[in-house]
Amino acid sequence: MAEGESKFIPDTAEPEKEEAEKPEEEKFSPERVLEMPPKELADFFSDLQEKGELEAFLKEAAENDALVAQFSYWEKWLAKDQRRLVDEVVAKKREVYGENSESLPLELEKKFTPAELHSIFSNLVGIQLTFGCSKGCPFCALDAVPGVREHIPYSQLANLFQKYGREIKETEPPLYWASEPSDYASKQGLEDKTYQDVHQLADEYAGYSPPITSKNIEDQEWLDFVGEQQGRVSLYGREPAQAEKIIQDQWSKKNMIRSVGEGREHSKGIGLSLMKEGLEEEKEKTGIVNRDGVLLSPRGLYNVVRVPISDKYPQGLAAVPLEKVTSEEIKVGESIDDAMREHVVEFRDLDPKIHGGEEEGVIFICGNGTEYVVKNNEDGIITLCEKYDRVDVSEFVQISLANNEVYDENTGEKIEADSKIIEALKTIDFFDLEHEFSLQKKISIGPKKWDFQVEIKNIGFVGVSIEADLATRKSRIKISQKV
Ligand code: SF4
Repeated sequence: MAEGESKFIPDTAEPEKEEAEKPEEEKFSPERVLEMPPKELADFFSDLQEKGELEAFLKEAAENDALVAQFSYWEKWLAKDQRRLVDEVVAKKREVYGENSESLPLELEKKFTPAELHSIFSNLVGIQLTFGCSKGCPFCALDAVPGVREHIPYSQLANLFQKYGREIKETEPPLYWASEPSDYASKQGLEDKTYQDVHQLADEYAGYSPPITSKNIEDQEWLDFVGEQQGRVSLYGREPAQAEKIIQDQWSKKNMIRSVGEGREHSKGIGLSLMKEGLEEEKEKTGIVNRDGVLLSPRGLYNVVRVPISDKYPQGLAAVPLEKVTSEEIKVGESIDDAMREHVVEFRDLDPKIHGGEEEGVIFICGNGTEYVVKNNEDGIITLCEKYDRVDVSEFVQISLANNEVYDENTGEKIEADSKIIEALKTIDFFDLEHEFSLQKKISIGPKKWDFQVEIKNIGFVGVSIEADLATRKSRIKISQKV
């Protein structure tokens, strides 16, 4: 049976009869299970367990990558014995198929074309090296399951960075997500590979030093490494005096390590903890993640999009397994989750307090390269979908100059700009400014503004402000000369 077609049939003496007698809504289909919010999924598991059908269901579901990804993402929401069953079934599957040291993680090359992989790896928000976390913080905002269960084999990470280093460099993803970086350990032949080895792969093949935030403050060798890489230690949940001492101790050893979370607790109002009695008042509006894009984990490949916290999205994040990349048009009225199953979400890095899809829009990349900007409401229903034309700042400079739309920033009056300034604007290398502009560049709804400074020979610094309406493609330039 092809993937995606599998249907769970309850383990009964007369399965066909049982199935036929069930009302339509009681039949289980992968599609239906994939749509379940985490609480519903956990109830569904408990229901199956009560009927003695959970193991049979999981064995069949293990053949469907999207279902495995879905159960894994929400594994902390399951009862302990149910988690154990999921882990056992996944481990068995890995045993049967073996570890292919020639492949990419999750053997993604068998599922996606090189062009699709290019798009996927250019938009990574993170690479989760290990599934589960040794720290097991009770209020982990990303619901990490306590205890490490699985890791991406080092050989596959090496293949990934060697083949797609240029793409990965585009977003410089951290090598953790709902995980502790120092937990990583992988056998490569007789060698034990650690986080440091994977960090080295990023350095060597993708040309960047991945950002690190770690809760491991027990291991001095590790702390030295984190300090060298200008990483941070997380001091959430520690007494201020204790946190201060940890940092002072390191500084006295000349390890100028940075820290985050001093004197603060993890928020109790995000993720699974929302379900705990007495914590209703703690509910936050947004989660901790500040980016949209693609997440790679040992258990799946996901699109993630920031959304307001709700029962459906308790982490303030829609995390949906990416099953394929199609050229299907995205339609108003559909669920954003459906669009996320079949299109790559473009990387965006914004203030976590902004609900991506609601306020700024999410950009989807289709298989044929067409891009859409999509907005959704609180329930994840798409309310707007527009074709997205990539914004090119230099294009708006040319439009403004061709139409003599040049103004003095201070007086607001139209001016004839100095020819040296005009020449400088025409030849400016916006590629160098691209990183700075990346935030604005990737938003295509409504009017936009870019501000920057250029130094012009014999004139000095000139402040430039480009105002563009992306819909009408009209624009103007405001100039302020700083003498
Ligand atoms: S260390 Fe980080 S990822 Fe691990 S449980 Fe704690 S908060 Fe979650």
